[in-house]
Amino acid sequence: MHGIQKNIRTLNLNTQSEEMYRQIEKLYPICRSITGDGVRKTLDILQEGIPLTKHEVETGTKVFDWKVPLEWNIRDAYLIDPDGEKIVDFKESNLHVLSYSSPIHRTVSLDELKQHLFSLPDHPDWIPYRTSYYSENWGFCIRHNQFEKLSEGDYEVFIDSSLEQGHLTYGEYVVEGQTDLEVLISTHICHPSLCNDNLSGNVVSAKLAEILTGLPLRYTYRFLFIPGTIGSITWLALNEPIASRIRHGLVAVCLGDAGRFTYKKSRQGNAEIDQVVAHVLKQSGYPFRIIDFFPFGYDERQYCSPGFNLPVGCLMRTPHGEFPEYHTSADNLDFVSPENLALSLSMYLQVVDVLESNSRFLNTNPKCEPKLGKRGLYGNIGGNYDSHTFQLAILWVLNQSDGENTLLDIARKSGLGFDLIKAAAAALSKTDLLKSGDNPG
Ligand code: ZN
Repeated sequence: MHGIQKNIRTLNLNTQSEEMYRQIEKLYPICRSITGDGVRKTLDILQEGIPLTKHEVETGTKVFDWKVPLEWNIRDAYLIDPDGEKIVDFKESNLHVLSYSSPIHRTVSLDELKQHLFSLPDHPDWIPYRTSYYSENWGFCIRHNQFEKLSEGDYEVFIDSSLEQGHLTYGEYVVEGQTDLEVLISTHICHPSLCNDNLSGNVVSAKLAEILTGLPLRYTYRFLFIPGTIGSITWLALNEPIASRIRHGLVAVCLGDAGRFTYKKSRQGNAEIDQVVAHVLKQSGYPFRIIDFFPFGYDERQYCSPGFNLPVGCLMRTPHGEFPEYHTSADNLDFVSPENLALSLSMYLQVVDVLESNSRFLNTNPKCEPKLGKRGLYGNIGGNYDSHTFQLAILWVLNQSDGENTLLDIARKSGLGFDLIKAAAAALSKTDLLKSGDNPG
């Protein structure tokens, strides 16, 4: 669509990148989990850019094979050593507490305490991020350097948390298009002070939603800001009729680091979204790799479960588990940058641009090549393209527009960029040689 392309071209990515980074700075201190006030505060901040809807799903609601868990909230937590010194303080870092820890206030021996401590011997200065959502436990995550210095004696453990009947909260925002066929962008919002996984995905999604708002779009775009796993399961369980309208989708995560782009294909493997992302990455000139679907990782697991099998891939930079900072205190504000966020956003925008304009056309003069000169299709008509390349694109579009091939198919076969093929199709559409074919919506 013209509007999107113009928007991408004229977008000041410097401004966008600073705004996204500033939003990460605001979101960073919040203690998020799969439920609770941290999620609500996060959605409040995201609402500054897009009027998303906050949904509350009651504890105990059955969602396929799962149940919405008790709501977890935490106010304070600390650990006091045998000398009476506060050695671990939730207020210093929310990663210090095992997420979903049950409340506790008692004295324990070092031996007992150690059963509830998590540290990283390979990165002794980093605090790990650990959770215990579905089995009741309490615990602290600490630097290994500190772990090694713990002396024998009694420790005071205090976790002022609550696990109560409440809600699972998620955010949803829909940008209406000309059709009710949908593109899904899904991002998880359940990690506490961790920037790349998951705040980068949150702010890139929110910025994309903001940019698309008000543009003339073919597809309807649905943005989900949900807790990982239980959030997508809940949404799918409550929205099966909507899920059947999803034609393309991406899970947005790990988009702020400096690593090369990684695209994890949908379970279908050769869906249009898989082809579009592969083409955009290839044309971008930036390093990338494409990996096949596997049934672990992020929420694509749920969207791509066999009962849904939606064409949803995951476009990220370095995948989870492949950067040492993953799920540690080192995934902080220094690990992500405005420039990396901006480049990731531009990749998402280009994917949207191709999805929006990927159409089938029909050559109305398919017997032998038509005479181009008499229709003004020779010479310098390609705008930004040199005339020889533009001629090639014209010939490719005419030859392949048999009602089956899309513009993306033609771009892939010809090795020419999607923009060029699209421009050639636009020029041909102004003549009697090409008409619109059978397209979505
Ligand atoms: Zn994670």
